[in-house]
Amino acid sequence: MNWNFCPRCATRLQLIEKSGAVRPVCPACGFVYFADPKVTVCVVMVREGKVLLGLRDMEPQKGKWCLPGGFMDYGEQVRAAAAREALEETGLTVAVGDLLMVTDWDDPQFNKKGIALAFAAEILSGTPRADDDVAELGWFALDELPEMAFPSDLMAITEYHRQFALDSGTKNRWLDLEGMAPNLLGGEDAQEWVSRTRQKNDESRETVWKRESD
Ligand SMILES: [Zn+2]
Repeated sequence: MNWNFCPRCATRLQLIEKSGAVRPVCPACGFVYFADPKVTVCVVMVREGKVLLGLRDMEPQKGKWCLPGGFMDYGEQVRAAAAREALEETGLTVAVGDLLMVTDWDDPQFNKKGIALAFAAEILSGTPRADDDVAELGWFALDELPEMAFPSDLMAITEYHRQFALDSGTKNRWLDLEGMAPNLLGGEDAQEWVSRTRQKNDESRETVWKRESD
């Protein structure tokens, strides 16, 4: 987001190096604009080996498929946000369970960066119906996914299988994320993104482990 005027005193902001980066700063009152990451939440619901996906009815990535999910509101709890998004987009009341994955995302189209949280969820009640940002819903076998909107959703589905899949044949097919990402996301960029993100996640996991064992 580009800020032109101070939200506190309406003076024109200046771009000044502050706390390690060039940021919009108010020369009159000292306000500094720190851009915060947006947080998205999504749910993986699997029935009879099929995952529930929605066809996106709005940009970004309109016309591609994604997990039910969306932006967290300020002050909302993460699982409550995931359950709300699932209800809004699918009409289903869900119980939000284990955290599957945390990763970062980048939306160059709208110049936003953020953090994605993915949870496993169980359907408690309701009949699936597409609503809100979603034009259509579908249950997809895990080796017949449609074109996916977001690399992070693919990672979440793969994580689900890593953690929950009981059938080892299905599990092995799904652990080959790098192999399938280009087909599902339409380009080598996606493959690079997934490899890089997985490597970054592995590195940060290593860092946390080292700190804990000191
Ligand atoms: Zn100001």
